[in-house]
Amino acid sequence: MRFCSTKAGEPQVSFREALLRCLPAEGGLYVPSTMVDLRHFFLYMNEGTTYPELVAAVAPALLQGELNPFAAGRAAESAFDFEPELIRLDEQYSILSLCQGPTGVFKDFGIAFLAACLEELVKGEGGCVGAGAPALAPALALSAVRGDTGVSMARAFAGRQGLIPVMLYPEGPIRGLDPADFVPAGGTIIPIQVKGSFDDCQRLVLETLRDRDFADRYAVTSANAINIGRLLPQAFYYLYAFIKIKARVKGDIVFSVPSGNLGNLMAGLYAWKAGLPVHGFIAAMNANGRAHRLLRGASAAPGEGADIEPGAEQPLVHTHSPALDVRFPSNSERLRAFCGEAPAVLRNMVFPETIDNDATLAAMRYAWERCGELLDPHSAVAFAAARRFAESPQYKGHVHVVSLATGHPAKEAALVESVTGERVPLPERLACLRKTAAPIALIEPELDALEGAIASCF
Ligand SMILES: *Cc1c(COP(=O)(O)O)cnc(C)c1O
Repeated sequence: MRFCSTKAGEPQVSFREALLRCLPAEGGLYVPSTMVDLRHFFLYMNEGTTYPELVAAVAPALLQGELNPFAAGRAAESAFDFEPELIRLDEQYSILSLCQGPTGVFKDFGIAFLAACLEELVKGEGGCVGAGAPALAPALALSAVRGDTGVSMARAFAGRQGLIPVMLYPEGPIRGLDPADFVPAGGTIIPIQVKGSFDDCQRLVLETLRDRDFADRYAVTSANAINIGRLLPQAFYYLYAFIKIKARVKGDIVFSVPSGNLGNLMAGLYAWKAGLPVHGFIAAMNANGRAHRLLRGASAAPGEGADIEPGAEQPLVHTHSPALDVRFPSNSERLRAFCGEAPAVLRNMVFPETIDNDATLAAMRYAWERCGELLDPHSAVAFAAARRFAESPQYKGHVHVVSLATGHPAKEAALVESVTGERVPLPERLACLRKTAAPIALIEPELDALEGAIASCF
């Protein structure tokens, strides 16, 4: 499989280069420029196939020799001591729960596999073809983080050789990290607080990656979703859902995806391109979503946001699903590139739905009362959209909707309890996310300050 920029079809680069460089020199973001047909795998896999087995089989095929079967097996085994759960509710609906990782959010899946792949790639031994390149040590994975994403990275990179995640936090408390894991204490992570917002952190990541001199000197890449290596492995759980239910569903399969920055949706579209037999994807947005035109494959007029719905400039309304409060999704560019290749596909395959607060809570209540499933509000947005779609005259009785559960209900325990009347116990692994820790440095959002803070750790 090869990758190119959303801005230019050439040059095409390897997986290794896309992961380690993160941003193409031509500008834009990396996207797959060729895709591998994975359909024959569906013949051999069945309900008994485990997630690491699936990943270990599919990843080397997808990466066509860049990750040999042994390296891919190691990466899959070491990344996933957790696996998704497919819960079939009835003839019409299933839930694909992605909350089993260390932070209870689906982002754990992409981050875990990216970290494992990066380790294989920087080890440069036996891991990958193209390993003639000198071993880079250590590579820095510079990422803007908020919420529990920093913890997800700390866990995913823990104990991995030749890699140090540098995590840029905006102002506010930093939770869930153990100071014993920080580089100055002999650990492997560098959390830095930036005087500014999350956007300032993201800007600093981009600025650093674009400063090739700096980026090459420190071998800087990123574990943010700008890295295609984080998005691509999310395609695996769509395949997994399919092999778990293929024997038990009649009719076409549709996935309902809670959509913010559209990473999860893109991963589903890549899975489709690799041969996943799926009828389409519901892009479930909350009241702040504005990407309907883009999602319908509107012929994107040049210019940022031309395909974003009017009203994008209005202030955000309060929702129960803050991760979906996104007006300008960071993966728009990838979606546009995909749509440029196959506009009709997008129009026929992606179904945008907007779910307001009342509908979100009603879906949460329905899932609990009728199906015995507790959903977090993001997952409830997807489930509400799934029901609206599957109950419509056009599709009723003809589709099976797999609705993605992207966050653990215990993370929104108060809301979930107020809606369902059910207390959600906090799993042990999520309890430690509440402890606060001090960063190793507090810096202005500037490259020099960042370099100084990194250098002071060694
Ligand atoms: C990040 C996040 C989303 C949105 O996913 P995108 O890939 O950005 O569309 C949905 N649900 C939860 C719980 C999240 O944390």
